[in-house]
Amino acid sequence: MSTCDTTIPIDRSMCNAPRHGTVLAYNDYGCRCPDSRTLATRYRRDIRNGTHTPQRTHSAGTGRRLRALAAIGWPSTLLADRLGCTFEWVGQLQREVNAQVHLTTAQRVAALYDELADIPGPSDRARGHAARAGWDAPDAWWYADIDDPNAQPDRLHPDPDDVDEVVVERLITGEHHNPRAATHAERQAAARIMRDRGFTHTRICRLLDIAHGTAYRLLAA
Ligand SMILES: [Zn+2]
Repeated sequence: MSTCDTTIPIDRSMCNAPRHGTVLAYNDYGCRCPDSRTLATRYRRDIRNGTHTPQRTHSAGTGRRLRALAAIGWPSTLLADRLGCTFEWVGQLQREVNAQVHLTTAQRVAALYDELADIPGPSDRARGHAARAGWDAPDAWWYADIDDPNAQPDRLHPDPDDVDEVVVERLITGEHHNPRAATHAERQAAARIMRDRGFTHTRICRLLDIAHGTAYRLLAA
């Protein structure tokens, strides 16, 4: 989703924001990387001049994220509250009624997804509805590019509640080559054991390849 077209990689080591390179990252996440600054400046100028034309993107990633959140128990009403829209609109996005969505919508949904995709939601009704509709959970998208309309979800992935003790141990020792392929329950079990063994928060995040906020939620749940 980066709008940066330079071939020189941007040094983000001095920026602590969780998201980079977009107007949303600049406005909502405090990113001050050069590409964000340029885009935010241009955005403000266009708004001022009345020349701002909302950018659009394919609706697949947005629909998949909202369906995946439903699959792990996040109801449309709660998602709508967080997105500042109606639950009917969440339903439209989940069914991909329109082939395209505003880029800002896609970015807000992506940010919400990053926040919630690791946490089981409160609604069995949402889970049941999603299961009957055949909606894929976030685990199906660890390997596949959720924003690529042609990408296929990984339906062979084990149940998110499965715990393989060997996988947990490999996560803890750092021998697991792709921590994100572990199930939610495995990541959570590993995080708890590491905390109990006195691992620092940063080390837990590095071993599980997750953000700090995700680690806090894994440990709090
Ligand atoms: Zn940044």
